[in-house]
This record gives sequence, C-alpha cells and structure tokens, in this order.
Amino acid sequence: MAKFNGDHIKLAIQKDGRLTEDTRALLRTVGLHFESYKQRLFSICRNFPLDILYVRDDDIPEYVAEGVVDLGIVGQNLVVESGTKVTELLPLNYGHCSLMVAVPAESGIENIQQLEGLKIATSYPLTTTKYFAEHKVNVNVITISGSVEITPALGVSSAIVDLVSTGSSLKLNDLVPIATVLDSQSSLIANPTSIENVYKKAIIDRLMTRFRGVLAAADYKYVMMNIPRSALEYVSTTTPGLKSPTVLPTADAEWMVVHTAIREDMFWDVIEKLKEHGAQGILVSSIEKMFV
Ligand code: ATP
Ligand code: MG
Repeated sequence: MAKFNGDHIKLAIQKDGRLTEDTRALLRTVGLHFESYKQRLFSICRNFPLDILYVRDDDIPEYVAEGVVDLGIVGQNLVVESGTKVTELLPLNYGHCSLMVAVPAESGIENIQQLEGLKIATSYPLTTTKYFAEHKVNVNVITISGSVEITPALGVSSAIVDLVSTGSSLKLNDLVPIATVLDSQSSLIANPTSIENVYKKAIIDRLMTRFRGVLAAADYKYVMMNIPRSALEYVSTTTPGLKSPTVLPTADAEWMVVHTAIREDMFWDVIEKLKEHGAQGILVSSIEKMFV
C-alpha cells in the first residue's frame, strides 16, 4: 500500500458528497495532478507537496483540529457544529447553504418565540441549542442523523433545523423556513500549529495564492470589443479593467479594439452602456485564473 509522503502537507476533503465534485475541480484548476477514483482513501499529488485524504465531511474539522491533517475543505456549518479549534483560511465560494429553522406550513408558526417548549429535530444539535439559548427560547432539541425534514410529519418534532440551499426539499415536505441560524459555504481550514510551521506555511501560502487566483477570476469577465474613437474616453473610465484597458488600433482609423475585464456584478449594466456608446463585436469570455 502506498504511504503518505513525509515531506508533503495533508489535506482532507469529502470522499463522496455534495462538496466532492467542486472540491476536486478546484484542486485540478489550481494545477494539482493526482489520481482519484472512488475506492481511494488518499492520493499523492505528483507535482505539488500535498497528499489528499478522502473522508466523511463530519470528520474533517476533528482531523484538522487534532493535526491528523494540516488542512481541510469543509462546509462552515460543520466547523461551527464541531466546536473545534481550527483556523479558517479562505472561504471558497461554493457549497452555499443556510442552516434554517423550518415548520410545517399548516402550523401557523411564524417566529421562533412560538416554538417555546416544543421539540426541534436536527443533525446540528450544538448549533441549534446555542441558537435557541441565545434567543432565550426553551426548546427540546432532538438529534437525528438523516432525513430530518420528515420528522414533523412523523410526529417526532414540531419544527426542524436543517440545511437549505434551494428550499426544494422543504417544499416537498410542506415545510416553510421561519429563521436563519447561519449561512455557510465551503471553506479551507487549517490546523493552528501547521500554519506556525515555517515549512508547512510556505506550502499553504502557495496553495492559497492559487485558490485566490481562481476565486478572483470568478468575479470578472474578459471582454474584447470594437469601439468608435469617439467612445474611447467613456470606455476607459467605465471599464477600467484591472488597471486600465488595453487599446489597440485597427486598420480603420476611426475604430479601435479594447481588451478589458468587467466585474460580474455590474456586467450587464456596463454592456448596455457600451452598446449605447457605439461598441460593436463585443466578445465575452470567462477567466479561469486571475492574479492582480
Ligand atoms: P458525508 O457522507 O461525507 O458525511 P453528508 O451526507 O453528511 O456527507 P452532504 O449532503 O454531502 O453531507 O453535504 C456536504 C455539505 O454540503 C454540507 O455540510 C453543506 O456544507 C453543503 N451543502 C450545500 N447545500 C446543501 C444542502 N442543500 N443540503 C445539505 N448540505 C448542503
Ligand atoms: Mg456528513
């Protein structure tokens, strides 16, 4: 059997679940080469000093806290629930969901104060208990490991605290959300001792620079377009790109080519304005990685 490489740092990721595909994709996008197939317990990167351990997501905060691995990629919801001492290094902008309080639609319950004295089923007992205590509502928290959303229909609970992304699972079970306990996304976490080790810290920093390059790129679109010379000043001020747009001449003295980056959140507004100013042949592409 292959062994962990002693010079490598170790990263735990979810073996098989909602975060697995995006996590593997992220690791490959940042240039890591590793074998991965379902039965594997771990992979050794061929071109970076990193070993990847595949585990159940619930175990990741504990493994990181105990130093079994140096790093983990896991939902913030589990970091909070575990109560472990790990250092959050970088939210990764996928696996978005919220831990919510939900009640049967026909219950007529509209706020958490109305849950006083009632049973709440959840797979997040610590987070749930803390939340209700902070809001000074006395509830009876019942820990259920899976399919929490069916417990009200079974008469096990009056309300649930569960993860919601689109809300379709709640709808399917005639439940409505009444409060948000926390918002979560996938995140890179570290063992506090590992990031104080100079050798490990250097490797972790290299990895984070790569991750940041991928995250930053998702916020921008790369745009190429033809603009009339008269629009140049307008274009330079509205689409500064990262520093200043690249402007190139064309065979026609009245037209220029502009290359720039536009922020995703203002993309459509900017495109509409550019068209009003005579821009033509606007080509847009995604950026895979970006370092500013
Ligand atoms: P494992 O077998 O590894 O223990 P699991 O069944 O406990 O997996 P998944 O359902 O794969 O966990 O969810 C993994 C993580 O995905 C969650 O902890 C959460 O951070 C995130 N997530 C995003 N959207 C949702 C959702 N709608 N429901 C549950 N988890 C979600
Ligand atoms: Mg789990």
